[in-house]
Amino acid sequence: MSSQLSAPRAEVVVDLDAIRHNVALLSGRAAASGAATMAVVKADAYGHGALPVARAALGAGASWLGACSLKEALALRSAGITAPILSWLETPVVDFTPGISAGIDLSASSSAELARIDAAAERAGQRARVHLKIDTGLSRNGCPQQLWPALCADAASARHVEVVAIWSHLACADEPGHPSIDEQGKRFEAAYQVAREAGLRPKRHLANSAATLTRPDFHYDMVRTGIAIYGLNPVDTDDDLRPAMTFRSSVALVKRIPAGESVSYGHTWTAATDTNLALVPVGYADGVPRTLSGRMEVWLGGRRRPVVGRVCMDQIVVNCGDYEPRLGEEVVLFTHGRSGEPTAREWADTLGTIDYEIVTGMYRPRVVRRYVGTETGAAV
Ligand SMILES: *Cc1c(COP(=O)(O)O)cnc(C)c1O
Repeated sequence: MSSQLSAPRAEVVVDLDAIRHNVALLSGRAAASGAATMAVVKADAYGHGALPVARAALGAGASWLGACSLKEALALRSAGITAPILSWLETPVVDFTPGISAGIDLSASSSAELARIDAAAERAGQRARVHLKIDTGLSRNGCPQQLWPALCADAASARHVEVVAIWSHLACADEPGHPSIDEQGKRFEAAYQVAREAGLRPKRHLANSAATLTRPDFHYDMVRTGIAIYGLNPVDTDDDLRPAMTFRSSVALVKRIPAGESVSYGHTWTAATDTNLALVPVGYADGVPRTLSGRMEVWLGGRRRPVVGRVCMDQIVVNCGDYEPRLGEEVVLFTHGRSGEPTAREWADTLGTIDYEIVTGMYRPRVVRRYVGTETGAAV
């Protein structure tokens, strides 16, 4: 009989050796430009688990961590991580004090935000480490160019703030050659001059994964790599990135149906011949999008096989033809794709989205996460 462990229901397996390999590759590129590497572990490390990924990344060449919120950053500190952490987006009511006390680097996009950080630092009795964010063309977070000189002047005179860096984020780095990339680079240079004229001596960081791989001239003092450390390549270069996440389940029931029988809600698929069906206990509650109904395959018994009929909340049905799967046999929904298995990228392409959304969406209460590989040791 298959044990519980060998017959998972809905399981995400994260390969920490793959994460370490990817971080070693990326931080090697950054180091060649004299830049440090930040491992971006926001959104629970894009669904891979913030703490194990953070530890693995720090052991493999990253020296900074990136978080989207103080809550994420403080969780890393509470778990004993001492590396510098930058946290970059808060609501206008958040109390910065605990973050400052915990030595979290903060981002300021406006003079008002800077003033709130300065006041919190005074309360904390400690200087706040701040990265000033310039909007160079993404028009999302960051200080608009016309307000930048005032923000720099305010930062230079703030009594409880230490300006660590200026930084910005690229809009189209995943489309190498897009004219906005060079334009954002120029605006970033201009913003740096303004900061220096205000008396600041900041470091600089601009590159995400795509720019880390394609624009060494944008590495500056640090790169902020997210998706690539998880082994997903936003620019399709032939760099040896290894996808770290596998989504798997197992066969719960096998049955044979005669030609003419239909499968699952709405009877959207009808068997043309007698065939074996495998029931797999994983559905849209576990991260299999219902819109993949009729448009996905799984890896079962050493090859791809189609999922037939609708994806349900808790189950999918795989058409196995004359193959008779074993009860408990492994079913891989997506993985690295090295033998032709489905990948997160393939799901994304089918759905008209990006693989970022697929892996990040795998953080779900019913999905068990398991780690293979090690957090420490020589990068593989
Ligand atoms: C998410 C994020 C990154 C990482 O982007 P990737 O494309 O995943 O490498 C870098 N910087 C900022 C500000 C981000 O929000």
